[in-house]
Amino acid sequence: MTTTAASQPLGYRVLNPATGEVVQTFPTATDAEIQAALESSHQAYALWKEVPIADRAKIVARVGQLFGERAAELGAIITEEMGKPASQAKGEAEFCEDIFEYFATNGPELAADQPITPIGGGRAVIQKLPVGPLLGIMPWNYPYYQVARFAAPNLMLGNTIILKHAESCPKSALAIQSIMDDAGVPAGTYINLFATHDQIADIIADPRLQGVSLTGSERAGSKIGEIAGRNLKKAVLELGGSDPYVILDAADVKAAAADAWGVRMENTGQACNSNKRMIVMDDIFDEFVGELANQAQGLVPGSPSEEAEGTFAPLSSRVAAEGLAAQLQDAVDKGATLHAGGRLMDGPAAYIEPAVLSGVTKEMRAYYEELFGPVAVVYKVTSDDEALALANDTPYGLGGAVFSTDEARARKVAERLETGMSNVNAYAGEGADMPFGGVKRSGFGRELGPLGMDEFVNKRLFYIGE
Ligand code: NAD
Repeated sequence: MTTTAASQPLGYRVLNPATGEVVQTFPTATDAEIQAALESSHQAYALWKEVPIADRAKIVARVGQLFGERAAELGAIITEEMGKPASQAKGEAEFCEDIFEYFATNGPELAADQPITPIGGGRAVIQKLPVGPLLGIMPWNYPYYQVARFAAPNLMLGNTIILKHAESCPKSALAIQSIMDDAGVPAGTYINLFATHDQIADIIADPRLQGVSLTGSERAGSKIGEIAGRNLKKAVLELGGSDPYVILDAADVKAAAADAWGVRMENTGQACNSNKRMIVMDDIFDEFVGELANQAQGLVPGSPSEEAEGTFAPLSSRVAAEGLAAQLQDAVDKGATLHAGGRLMDGPAAYIEPAVLSGVTKEMRAYYEELFGPVAVVYKVTSDDEALALANDTPYGLGGAVFSTDEARARKVAERLETGMSNVNAYAGEGADMPFGGVKRSGFGRELGPLGMDEFVNKRLFYIGE
């Protein structure tokens, strides 16, 4: 039987946002299953941490290979679950192979003892030891990549993992569990759980659990951070963003605008570090906005599984599309200019036309809130200082980029961005080896690169006296 979004059941389910139909539902875990998972994770930890890191690396590398081998089928699952265009969905699964490979290759060195020379004599090293069972709480926007960022370094370290995925991603969550099992990750070392929010609070409170990593919204971050704090558990929070994308000047304004649009449309605008605020110098502003509007004009809804020129994909859910439409309406009602798009298509599917918006002021929700969808918001500035002040006028601090034909000029602004990632003449330095994370209300902690293996670690001093 299929139901529509209006009668959408709560809990874990595949709800195709391109049709609004519920395809499959999954039962949530019982409390007994939660307790069994905690015990199993605890017991698996005692064994997994004793496996030599070189042997853990072989299993972690195999996990990566399976992501690569299964990329097409993995991609199809998330296209149905959250509407990601097919080529991007497959690409995401392939990128996970790079992430597991990076940590399998570099993990032994990153976890190696760090010698120090004690001033008072004796011998000392800092050891990088695992801490125990960890909980990962993940969002729907990159269902594989987010899990890979958390799981790869922690499996290498010898930690064990309980994974609670987004309610809209049960099939991809199970596909990841299959990959772990098939790659030889021992039973109990990686456990997918369809847990409720109440059960998540119980898991965090359980003395066997040693840490929690959440990627998601500010709202969820403050809740999970509060529960973790109350229970004295280490937390990593990877939250939302409203990244500035500053264009001080450009040799080819149309090309710069087309690039900016391409970045903004990645994952239909649902990336935490998307260029949500384009900040453009006044002398090129009109040409820049004109080209954005040109790109947005005439697009029609398309199937994310059969990508075609001139089409756009749905958002992850009807609720998300309606929420974005309300943010746009608020801006337009208060005087912003909608240059193109922005129409919410009739339900129950989750289509909203990609839009270009300017004239956003502080009175509008769009100024400080994250717009999690295909909307290019463009601000006009008259100086580099004004661009910088606007770039930093946000509660978020995830990433940011500054562009100029004069690298030194762009660098001067980029050096002063209050963000966890700052880029010059590039949208983002992204890769398995590039640390990712933010400051301010974008959260704390880092994933990927060398810093990604430095979070859930007991950096133990080991001292031998003379
Ligand atoms: P969300 O916060 O609604 O959900 C994220 C996860 O947290 C889900 O698994 C959800 O079930 C769980 N969750 C939410 N409230 C909870 C609670 N009270 N107790 C237990 N679990 C809870 O976020 P979303 O809509 O799935 O993801 C989009 C958000 O994620 C955006 O804000 C985006 O910017 C952010 N994001 C950040 C990064 C990053 O690295 N900084 C990466 C991707 C996405």
